[in-house]
Amino acid sequence: MPFRSPASLHYRTAARSENITQRGAALFGVNEEQFSNWRWQMKNQITSAEDARKVLHLSENETQAFHELESLFQAGVTPYYLALMDLENEFDPVRLQAVPRLDELKDKIGIEDPLQEVGNSPVKEVVHVYRDRVAFCVAQLCPVYCRYCFRKRRDDEVGLHFNPKIVDAGVKYIAENKEIRDVLITGGDPLIAQDGTLENLLRQLRNIPHVEIIRIGTRVPVTLPYRVTEELADMLAQFHPLWINTHFNCPEELTPEAAAAIDTLLSRGIPVGNQSVLLAGVNDSPERLKALLEGLVRIRVRPYYLYQAQTVEGTAHLRVPIEKGLDLMRSLRGNTTGFAIPQYVLDTPTGKIPLSPNHVIGRTEDDVLLLDLKKNPWREPNPINDYVTQNPLGFPNL
Ligand SMILES: *Cc1c(COP(=O)(O)O)cnc(C)c1O
Ligand code: SF4
Repeated sequence: MPFRSPASLHYRTAARSENITQRGAALFGVNEEQFSNWRWQMKNQITSAEDARKVLHLSENETQAFHELESLFQAGVTPYYLALMDLENEFDPVRLQAVPRLDELKDKIGIEDPLQEVGNSPVKEVVHVYRDRVAFCVAQLCPVYCRYCFRKRRDDEVGLHFNPKIVDAGVKYIAENKEIRDVLITGGDPLIAQDGTLENLLRQLRNIPHVEIIRIGTRVPVTLPYRVTEELADMLAQFHPLWINTHFNCPEELTPEAAAAIDTLLSRGIPVGNQSVLLAGVNDSPERLKALLEGLVRIRVRPYYLYQAQTVEGTAHLRVPIEKGLDLMRSLRGNTTGFAIPQYVLDTPTGKIPLSPNHVIGRTEDDVLLLDLKKNPWREPNPINDYVTQNPLGFPNL
């Protein structure tokens, strides 16, 4: 059986009840079976204004951007993801993530590789920042090219996608470095490969005794849920402990199809987490962020990280000030399920830095002063001892 029909699930789990397969099939003039075939979706990826215009009412800004950005960062959208968009509104949150805009040409501070991943890769595509874990960027292609992607630079390199030489050299590096206990397979989107290609890579990694956990970073449940077939999930389940992190950014993406894809992974014992990027006009209000996070836990996805958007070229219009991000985090605590709240982080060339609203104000004699959720001071008895004198509230001596 290929893709599990979302009709077999309770619709109330998804944030939106509309059946996108039905809507999409009608929009693209194909039957639902064809529309839900992931290979058909990849073959029919929308890459030009001419294609997009057949379905969307494109604005002048978007039309020009399709042309002007062609050589800088090409557009690519699956028919499924396009069918999630408001066809009339150019500021629709799904559309802002995937359809190019001229604003991308007006970023004054964005750079190509803000995380210095190229410099942090001892062999090509193995980013080794932390002692015990690596990000292994095996894939180059994606179902949808997110306009804020921090790995846009990969777009230029021909033949990067599951290149056997790069994959073999990466596996060899991991096998030779006994400290690596956690391998994150990422890209691009690794789940765009054929089952056999992925299986081959996973088997090689599983055969390395010191690799304890394997993780896959993929946006497929969001941009191409039909890719999560029963066969794919069965194949992945051979390589436990295997974890998946996906990437939902707004409540509109929580469709019955996405919920079905997640359910297929969970039913094989694969834990699914979510990493969102904080994006202007997409998820930067307390209401929308809360709706996203609560929708995720309804489909049993655990919110893991909320990323501060990187200063990647062409993304200034999507970035949100860190101060606003901290206010958003403050708005969540106490107002929703604790495990629906992700950690807000900024990734840097030396690792991820937590961005947390500070509730610790200071200390008096034998008390630590805190700010409670109602912004009232709370005095916690916490007598001075040796540890306290050496580590004043954990602040480093700079
Ligand atoms: C994010 C990241 C990881 C994984 O970090 P966790 O905090 O363990 O999820 C590993 N390597 C690199 C280079 C990363 O950017
Ligand atoms: S799916 Fe991930 S790697 Fe691909 S364009 Fe989007 S953010 Fe970048």
